[in-house]
Parts: sequence; structure tokens; C-alpha cells
Amino acid sequence: MHFYSTKDPSSTVGFKDALFQGLAPDGGLYMPESIPVLSSDYFNSNLTYPELAIGMIHPFVEDNLSHAQLTDICVSAFDFPIPIIDLNESDSVLELFHGPTLAFKDFAARFMARTMSHFLENENQELTILVATSGDTGSAVANGFFGIDGINVNILYPSKRVSPIQEKQLTTLGGNITALEIDGTFDDCQRMVKDAFNDIDLRNRRPLSSANSINVARLLPQSVYFAWAWNQCGKNEAVVFSVPSGNFGNLTGGLLANRMGIPVEKFIASTNVNDVFPKYLNSGNVNNQEAVQTLSNAMDVGVPSNLERIQNLFHDNIDQIKVDISSWSFNDEETKIAIRYINDEYNYLVDPHTAVGILGLEKYRYKTHSTTKGIVLSTAHPGKFHDVLEPLVDEKITLTEQLQSAMIKEKVSHYMSNRYSDLKEFLLTT
Ligand SMILES: *Cc1c(COP(=O)(O)O)cnc(C)c1O
Repeated sequence: MHFYSTKDPSSTVGFKDALFQGLAPDGGLYMPESIPVLSSDYFNSNLTYPELAIGMIHPFVEDNLSHAQLTDICVSAFDFPIPIIDLNESDSVLELFHGPTLAFKDFAARFMARTMSHFLENENQELTILVATSGDTGSAVANGFFGIDGINVNILYPSKRVSPIQEKQLTTLGGNITALEIDGTFDDCQRMVKDAFNDIDLRNRRPLSSANSINVARLLPQSVYFAWAWNQCGKNEAVVFSVPSGNFGNLTGGLLANRMGIPVEKFIASTNVNDVFPKYLNSGNVNNQEAVQTLSNAMDVGVPSNLERIQNLFHDNIDQIKVDISSWSFNDEETKIAIRYINDEYNYLVDPHTAVGILGLEKYRYKTHSTTKGIVLSTAHPGKFHDVLEPLVDEKITLTEQLQSAMIKEKVSHYMSNRYSDLKEFLLTT
């Protein structure tokens, strides 16, 4: 299988190159040349999560990874539970936050780290990974790559715009992980990373790779849990997925799963007030915005990078996109009300991102009267947002052991302006 650039379909590379390059040299994003369709028997069968992952990912990577190598990677990467909680007869929550950093980004980060480490095993080369984070990517990547020989990870995060727990998770690992605290927004961080990738001079002197959702290797593992959830529901019918979205990597994984054979009535792209995508579906125009800070901070994205991939998947036909995806945006007030309501009604505590996802599903039901099985992707553990949740539900939230131990460590970060030249100088002098 080859991967082409969204900017030039004739420029293709194999999986390994797509993985290490991150962004295509022409600035486009890599997409698989074709999407294999698996049988409904396969998706209906009784598989473990790693087995399901191997079957779905192998066709994309088989030129570079044997079945046995992929098996090692998947068994070790996906070793935590992935429960589905039923809120009522029709609505369920897929808990994707049981990995080590308690957010769904662990799926992709652990897969990528193991895959890169596999390829680097026999090469005597230092690699620098650059990643921009709005909160959770950074800690998932840091955790996934921590201690891997030959890889240095630099994480750019927007100063004062991540939660205290997220910041601790980013800044307390040390070793081969460096946290760059940027005086700016997530979009600034993302731009700086993009500038670095487009800087030939830098890349000649420092081999770079990315772990952002622009990396196609993140999308592959993010398609698997959609199939898992569908399988676990055991209904053998189309379902509705609501995906709390920021950069739209998670949703793009769902679209891949759908093309591979999972029947889906509708994807709901649920956003906070950073609403470039719902506005795009309404108007047909992409108007990137300055990111606005919200309670669901991992979705505070004004320039959703995977939008380019979604357009590409649908050949830029917005009417087709609207057949498969609906999208609504919700503000912090609505998010808080949802958190309180879900806690009162179902005795179930959700983090602000998941609350936005639940609001999206409810809006869909209200608009369409659909009673189809609905699955909301729960992207973060509520404990990560205990400071927001506690006053809302009026109870004390006990942090998991992982969170408690991160909280008592001391933050170590390197403060930096949002100018690319400062990042470049840093990378060339450290
Ligand atoms: C990253 C993240 C999102 C948004 O996912 P995208 O793939 O960027 O759309 C939602 N919730 C949480 C908790 C996240 O960390």
C-alpha cells in the first residue's frame, strides 16, 4: 500500500516513509491509496482488541511490517481495557481513556512509538520528534516515546492554556522528553511545527519527524475502536457515532473504519465554540479562526488540520460530506449543564470533551428523531478535569494513582516565544 499527498496524488511513498516524514514534502497530508474493505463476518467475529487491530491495520503496512511484527506492536500498545458504558437503551459511551495518560491519544501515540522504535532498532540515527499539543497529544506522545533510544521528543504546548494536570503530565517525564512552553496558542504551536517541517535547512541538519494528528500512522489505530464499539454492541446494524472533535483526527479514523465496512448511519462532529467545521458544513467555506479557550481545551483548534483529509476522502464534495457527517457546536455553559445533567440522571461523570460529544448526540436525536444506537466517544478521564468538575457536581473526585504521582513532581519546561526562529535556534543548539 502506498500513501499519496493530498496536495499531489501522484507523489506517493510507502508506510515507513509516510510514518517518518509526517507531512509530505509538498506540505500535503498523506492518505492511503486505497481503503481495503473487510468482510462483515470479520467485523462480527469474536476477536480480542489487538486481533481486530492487526486485521484492520495490516493491509496498510504490510510492505514494511510482517504480521508477526505488527502483532508484537499491537499486543503491547493496546493492553488496557476499552469498556462501553450504556447510559440508557439507545445511548452508550465508549471509554477510550484507560491508557497510561488517561486520554484517547494513547492509542495512536503508543502505536506510533512502538512502530518507529521497531524501524529504528537497527539504524544508528538520532531522530527528533516535534509535536504540538493542545493538552493530551503531548503527554500521550511523551509517555509513548519515553526512554526510547535514539529518539528525542520536543513538545510544544500553549502556556497557561492546558490544565494543571495536563501540564504536569507533559513536563515531568524528563529524559528524552523536552517540554517547550510557548507564549501563544495551540495554533501557534502547530504553525511552528509546520514551519520546522517546511525548513529544508533545518531538516538537513536535524532529521525530524512528527507525531501530530497530521501523521497518517495515527489515523490507522484510531479507526480500530470504532469497529470495536460496533462489534461490542452486537446489533449488526448501522450505529451513530458522536466524536468530540478539534483537529478531526479521531473522526477521520472513524471515516476510515466506515469505508472498511462498519455500517454507520451518521457521524456527528461535536465541537466547542471553535466551530470552523460546523460552519463549513453550513456554508461550504473554510474560515479558519483564532482558537478560543474553552473547558474542553483539547478541542480548542481554530485550524483543524484533518479537514483537508476529510475533503480529500469525499473528493471535495460537500454534499457527500453532509450525507455522512453532521456537526454542531456547544458553548461552555451548555457543556457544564450537560455534565451536571448526566451526573444526576445516570450517576455517570464525564469530562468536558465527552460532555460535548453527548450534547452532539442529543442534538442529532432532537433534529432527526432517530432512535438508532448512538455511541459517544469518551476521549478523556474525568479525573483530568477534576478542578472543573468538582464545583459542578458538588463532590470530591479522587485522582487515579497515575495522576497523583504526576501532580507531586516538579514541572520542568523551556519557555519560548511563538516565533519560529526561536524554535529553530533551540533545535540546532541542543
Ligand atoms: C485531542 C482530543 C480531542 C480532539 O480530537 P481530534 O482528533 O483532534 O479531533 C478530544 N478530546 C480529547 C480529550 C482530546 O485529547
